[in-house]
Parts: sequence; C-alpha cells; structure tokens
Amino acid sequence: YSAKDRGVGVCVFDTGLDDHSPERLGLLGELRRAIDSGELVLHYQPKMAMVSEEVCGVEALVRWQHPERGIIPPALFIPLAERTPLIHPLTRYVIDTALAQCARWQAEGRTLQVAVNVSARNLLDDGFVDDVLELLVRRGVPAACLELEVTESAIMADPARAQQILGRLADAGITLSIDDFGAGYTSLAHLKDLPIHQLKIDRSFVASMTTDRSDALIVRAVVELGHNLGLTTVAEGVEDEATWQRLRAAGCDLAQGYHLARPMPASELEGWYDATRGVLRS
Ligand code: C2E
Ligand code: MG
Ligand code: MG
Ligand code: MG
Repeated sequence: YSAKDRGVGVCVFDTGLDDHSPERLGLLGELRRAIDSGELVLHYQPKMAMVSEEVCGVEALVRWQHPERGIIPPALFIPLAERTPLIHPLTRYVIDTALAQCARWQAEGRTLQVAVNVSARNLLDDGFVDDVLELLVRRGVPAACLELEVTESAIMADPARAQQILGRLADAGITLSIDDFGAGYTSLAHLKDLPIHQLKIDRSFVASMTTDRSDALIVRAVVELGHNLGLTTVAEGVEDEATWQRLRAAGCDLAQGYHLARPMPASELEGWYDATRGVLRS
C-alpha cells in the first residue's frame, strides 16, 4: 500500500492577525452561517491496530469548504470558535455528522468506531453530556461506537469538573482518549483517577522517534505508563515504515498517520477500507 496524497488544494491566508482583526471577526460571523449551510465537512483518518493490522476506527477531522476561500483547515477556525459559544453548535454538528456516517457504515457492514475531537469549552457546558447521549439515540448508534478525544489542557482547565463530565460519558459506554498526550501537562495523580481509556501520544514525539533518542525513550515510557494504568496507547503522526516498526516493537497498540492513510472524505475512506478489507498488509 502507499499513502497517496489525497490533499485537496488548501487555501492559505494570513494567519498573523490578532483576535479582533476584522478578518477574524468576519470569519467568525461566516462560521455561524457555515455550520447551518453544510459548509463544514468531515474527513476521516483510519486508526490501525499494530499487531493485527486491522482498521479499528477513524478520527473525524473537520474542514471548512468555504465558497470563496477553498478548504480552510481546522487550525485556522477551531481556535477562533473555541473562544466563543459557537464551539457548542460546531461540536454538536461534528458529532451528529460523524454518528450519521457511522450509522450508514454500520448498515453497509463496515464496522468503524468514530472519534471526534472535543474542546475544553465543551467540557464546561452543562448540557454537553445530555446532548451527546441524545445524538447517539437519535442516530441509533451504540455508545461503544463513539470515541471522544480531549486534550490535557482541556482537562487541566478544571480537573474536578472534567473528571465528573468524563465519568458520565464513560459510564454511558463512550470511549475516551487524551489527545496530544505529552504535549501539555497532566499530573500523574490526575491521570490515574481519570475515567479514560486511551492515550494518544503526541505527534511531536512520534515524528522524531527514529532520529531522536530522547523522543524514542519518551514514546516507550508513555506506552509503558499507559499499559500500567490499563490504557490503550495510540501513536499519532506515523509517517514512515521505520517509525511503525519502532512503535510496534515498543508495544504501542494503535497507530494513525500519513504512512497508513491521510484523512479522507467519507466516500474515499470507503474505497480505501473496502480495498484493504480493513486489513493493511495481507
Ligand atoms: P488532532 O486531533 O491531534 O488531529 C490530528 C492532526 O494531525 C490532523 O490535522 C491530521 O490531519 C494530522 N495528521 C494525521 N496524521 C499525520 C501525519 O502522519 N503527519 C502529520 N504531520 N500530521 C498528521 P488536522 O485535520 O489539520 O487537525 C488539526 C487539529 O484541529 C486536530 O488535531 C484537532 O485538535 C483540531 N480539530 C480537527 N477537527 C476538529 C473538530 O471537529 N473539533 C475540534 N474541537 N477540533 C478539531
Ligand atoms: Mg484528535
Ligand atoms: Mg492529536
Ligand atoms: Mg494535534
């Protein structure tokens, strides 16, 4: 297999603007409309089990298909939305769209868990858990098919509250992951008490583990820490075969990255999944 570049042209525009610049405020205003008019689209990136080489799920990653600017990557609008209540309908939209897709795949015999990224502000929203549970019921998707990814900083913004919200989500049967693990700081005391299932090792360590001895050591230490806490470990940003082999030797459970597949629109993901029959190197 080869990870083909499926990138559609990305429109890059000036990002060196402050929060209150007219362009950013304009973009925020447009985003409100974009959510309702279906301009936000999800791409899906496979997560593979390293031993069986089976596809176990996909991460949903949002893109803004802007009528004039082309595709706007999430890094250019999610941080803006996160500073406003707009992140609530945005996250709801992404979860709902991912669940609807998951239900279609399920009906077609493709069993894929979908992961959605959740922002710090979502965890501070009183209605968040009920909203998620309602969306699961409405789309007829079992909670086990949904994974939510939360960053360390989102948890550490209010650890007690995060623990309570995550506890309710975990009790409902939703899989919970800490995203970009190692990039922020989570005290080990909190980590051991969090009702989470997975650690996603930050790409910055994974990307350089074949060239930087310390990064390789950090990755191995995180895998061991995760396993000792009973957690599944996931490496993000696996870009080559050498990294894949190192991770596998380190005992990492799952991997995600351009070496396996890029994030793809749903239809392409289906073609990819069917061609591999869900197994990579048969
Ligand atoms: P993330 O959740 O850590 O997602 C992984 C990012 O790494 C994605 O970028 C993905 O395309 C990219 N990636 C995957 N494999 C590789 C690789 O091998 N090498 C490299 N260099 N990159 C790889 P993307 O899609 O641009 O998303 C960036 C971030 O935006 C995400 O990081 C996440 O924090 C945020 N994001 C994306 N979609 C959503 C969403 O629906 N809601 C929220 N709240 N945040 C989102
Ligand atoms: Mg993520
Ligand atoms: Mg990540
Ligand atoms: Mg990241």
